[in-house]
Amino acid sequence: MDKIANIIDTIINQLGASLVTLKEALSLDEQQIITLKEDLKKSIEENKQLGAYVEQFTDTEVLSSDSGIPIAIKDNINVKGWELTCGSNILKNYIAPYNATVIENLEKNGLCAFGRANMDEFAMGSSTESSCYGKTLNPVDNTKVPGGSSGGSAAAVAAGLAIAALGTDTGGSIRQPAAYCGCVGMKPTYGRVSRYGIAAYSSSLDQCGPITQNVEDAAILYDIISGYDPKDSTSANVEYTPVAPNLDSSKKLTIAVIDNFIEEASDEIKEAMNKSIKILEDAGHSIVHKRMMDTKNILSSYYIVATAEASANLSRYDGIRYGNRAEATNLKETYLNTKTQGFGEEVQKRIMLGSFVLSSGYYDAYYIKAQKVRHLIKDEFDKIFNDSDLILNPVAPTTAPKFGAFASSLEMYLSDIYTISVNLAGLPAISLPVSKDSDGMPIGLQLIANAYDEQTLFDGALSLEQNINYTK
Ligand code: GLN
Repeated sequence: MDKIANIIDTIINQLGASLVTLKEALSLDEQQIITLKEDLKKSIEENKQLGAYVEQFTDTEVLSSDSGIPIAIKDNINVKGWELTCGSNILKNYIAPYNATVIENLEKNGLCAFGRANMDEFAMGSSTESSCYGKTLNPVDNTKVPGGSSGGSAAAVAAGLAIAALGTDTGGSIRQPAAYCGCVGMKPTYGRVSRYGIAAYSSSLDQCGPITQNVEDAAILYDIISGYDPKDSTSANVEYTPVAPNLDSSKKLTIAVIDNFIEEASDEIKEAMNKSIKILEDAGHSIVHKRMMDTKNILSSYYIVATAEASANLSRYDGIRYGNRAEATNLKETYLNTKTQGFGEEVQKRIMLGSFVLSSGYYDAYYIKAQKVRHLIKDEFDKIFNDSDLILNPVAPTTAPKFGAFASSLEMYLSDIYTISVNLAGLPAISLPVSKDSDGMPIGLQLIANAYDEQTLFDGALSLEQNINYTK
């Protein structure tokens, strides 16, 4: 059995290795793109067990929104005319009436939406186990989770079933699955990428970003989806200079390491941190040591803000305006039955938690306090960026765990300690693979930059990627 699993692994790895990068795909002609899409469809069909695409569960054809280069799209991003479910039963059969701005941007640049990537229900999770379709497997070891919530996007890229993908990151959902599967995942500065047409989980934290095979592809895709959008009231109306044409890995940077964060990581992650620090120093960068507030406070602040906003955002799925409506005899029962039958356990838990922290009497004690902590987190980052260009941090305290390893929701939340502060502060960050653990599972680290300084972020990431020489 092990032998067969190994052979399958090797085939998947070879598939990944032979797939063109996004940069290479940009120079393909029309006929070559058609062939590429046919090949991808075939591989997706042959690797059904992976469950990276919704279509692999539903036995439906992988659709293409246009004639361009195919990009896998997380199932919470509207593609006109496609079903959009956010991995939830409550939205099954809902057809997107318009394109999200990121999809319009893809199509304007010769790319297109290609297939729906599986995800944790409403992007709430860290393992892609809570999708209504079923779980996505980690392509490196099928007994392990691919991470989440953009687990489908990361698994598709890592398995060679997508050249690149779009995911969303509210508290790590791009960076963490990329780290677990061994690809690159980037979360832009809050406001850089339009949220128009992306189903909201926590509006003040959500950002869409690329999951790719390498850093340069991430920069290319980031440039394509970014920019001011008057349709999104939180879109940043700031000057935009494309990063990909200006990539420069030779810049010497000051990179901060947060010592008290690293203490909480597994030994193998610590080792990967030390190895990367050494490599960055050898490449001419300076390392400085810093401290930040306890991750416990960051975790509490995040899960209060995120669930509060989620409870408000998800109230629209009431059986009247969107998606499915359950059988009932009156309005109250319609709401109750629709939500009980339509939402999964984790989503219901978060709606209740969010409603609780916003309720009168508890608003000051929890919600306001969480917002104050959020402010302190931003202040701490500001201080670090006074004398540092970037921060190097683990993405998660461990490598990908086995399915079912999280005994409770709380245990799962603990795997988010390194990613969520970035969202609370609205900063850009990129996760890239740097080594493997003793089981051969990828270890990803993240670089974090100051707001709107994506150029330095990508320059630093490219330098790390070139010097670390990670192989699949
Ligand atoms: N794991 C985190 C959560 O469940 C992050 C999810 C995300 O970034 N969408 O909230």
